[in-house]
Amino acid sequence: MKIIKTLKELRSYRNEVSGSVGLVPTMGALHEGHLSLVKKSFTDNNKTIVSIFVNPAQFAPHEDFDSYPRHFEDDCKQLERLNVDAVWAPSVSEMYPKDFQTAVRVSGISEVLEGEFRPHFFEGVTTIVNKLFMQVQPTRAYFGEKVFQQLQVIQKMVKDLNISVHVIGCKIIRDAEGLALSSRNAYLSDDDIQVARQLNVILKQASALVKERGIQEVELILKDAIITAGFTKVDYVTLRNAETLRPISSLQNCDDVRILVAAYLGPVRLIDNIGL
Ligand code: AMP
Repeated sequence: MKIIKTLKELRSYRNEVSGSVGLVPTMGALHEGHLSLVKKSFTDNNKTIVSIFVNPAQFAPHEDFDSYPRHFEDDCKQLERLNVDAVWAPSVSEMYPKDFQTAVRVSGISEVLEGEFRPHFFEGVTTIVNKLFMQVQPTRAYFGEKVFQQLQVIQKMVKDLNISVHVIGCKIIRDAEGLALSSRNAYLSDDDIQVARQLNVILKQASALVKERGIQEVELILKDAIITAGFTKVDYVTLRNAETLRPISSLQNCDDVRILVAAYLGPVRLIDNIGL
């Protein structure tokens, strides 16, 4: 497995590679969720490149950029075991040259939900993903439904900017009790994990309730249930049109509904979602 750290090396590697290339963008601290994207890329492509880059632009100053888990050696061992072809692991200065002044911003879909509570986030994501696409020139790129809105925002960016990459969404990988795997779960104590595991159980109950109680009431019931389970704060828990992420007034008006949640356990913010 080739570990590439400079753009110069990446360009020469990319020039040598023929056939289809799958890109799996990550911030490292890899778990089975990330590895499921890698495995999907293997089945679809001749080569698979995994990028590992903790992107400062998608963290606000008060967020966890400095403390974000970084396990580069361990990540590389896991990827090598899977026979990944190359890891693209640039430094911050390689990605953001001095006096960097450019941004890619998707309006509308990136301004709701996560965009409302983390206003810096999507511009950081779309700028870096755009750069990754231009650097790696993948045939396909793999994103988890774990960050569901991110997947939809990237789909929109690719469509709007006519980027010739197929964006593939992959299902959420969960532990045996349904907790969505996340690098940030490492911040949770054993007691917190028990509470966190309630999140998907609560979301699943919504499906059955919606027909009986209606959307707005179900959103309130879910919020109450999340707080009762032991979460300390709910940023949002809401039913949305899965493609546009706009609110829906009734189930009749929308074939594809997604329930999305962001909630805090102390300082740790967890997100999850399920299809209705
Ligand atoms: P991250 O390293 O957190 O930026 O995540 C990199 C990619 O892995 C993103 O496309 C995430 O949606 C995806 N991902 C993270 N956790 C999971 C999971 N539990 N299941 C599936 N995909 C995931």
